[in-house]
Amino acid sequence: MYPQPKKSLGQNFLIDPNIRRKIISIMDFNNRDAVLEIGAGRGELTRMLAARVKFIYALEIDRFLSESLQQEFCQLHNLKVINCDILKFDLDKAFFGLSAKINVFGNIPYYITTPIIEHLLKYKHKIKIIFLTVQKEFAQRMVSLPSSRDYGAFSLFVQYHFEPRIAFNIKKGSFYPVPKVDSSLISLKPRLTSAVEVADERQLFSIIRASFNQRRKVLRNSMQKAVSKEKMERIAWRYANLLKLRPEDLSLRDFAELANA
Ligand code: SAH
Repeated sequence: MYPQPKKSLGQNFLIDPNIRRKIISIMDFNNRDAVLEIGAGRGELTRMLAARVKFIYALEIDRFLSESLQQEFCQLHNLKVINCDILKFDLDKAFFGLSAKINVFGNIPYYITTPIIEHLLKYKHKIKIIFLTVQKEFAQRMVSLPSSRDYGAFSLFVQYHFEPRIAFNIKKGSFYPVPKVDSSLISLKPRLTSAVEVADERQLFSIIRASFNQRRKVLRNSMQKAVSKEKMERIAWRYANLLKLRPEDLSLRDFAELANA
């Protein structure tokens, strides 16, 4: 018997077997693949994955669950259960010597989606693809394009580093306990070269953040928080057309052009 799911650890188990099958079939991993699962929970997806892939590391922060998983799966030689926080997990160390790239999957707690993506980004050279179930609105923000309601600094951040795609939406009733909102399965494919060329990534994102912090203002006004007055004066004339727009009307390419200027 399992204890009550822990809200503090974002435990919402995927209980719909059809959705589990659908996720496994979309990810389409094969017997050459190395997989890292984040938040294995009660291990239903872990078991299905282990049957398909070369080997799988299943991370689970909850001591009780990870011990149950260890017992349950002790016969499976291609599966290693690790009691660990993903945010402290060093992929370079764990997969040292592995030449193939890693596939990552996680039905993860909503509140650490962004930290997890930022953490995985540090290892993007090692990762083939990431599949995550995330809050539906959050998935929408990751894929949205200029002029749409959900477009923002986070969309640009994700699209700069990854090719994001929504695979399908998952009704909240597929989870236990039932969360407040629906989810989506999203895939993030790390880009080998960033989506746009910029001389200074930090400059790019500081301009993006400053602009979206004042979403209603045109760039000419909001950018002053990120760029000195002299620099603004230098680019004002040449980029007059971009600077009179609001941030939601600028593409990643436009922001990159401003950052480089
Ligand atoms: N994959 C399972 C469980 C999903 S619930 C399923 O689909 O049913 C999310 C799981 O992530 C929980 O078991 C929770 O204990 C675990 N978890 C939460 N925070 C974590 C973290 N920082 N690192 C690793 N696992 C975590």
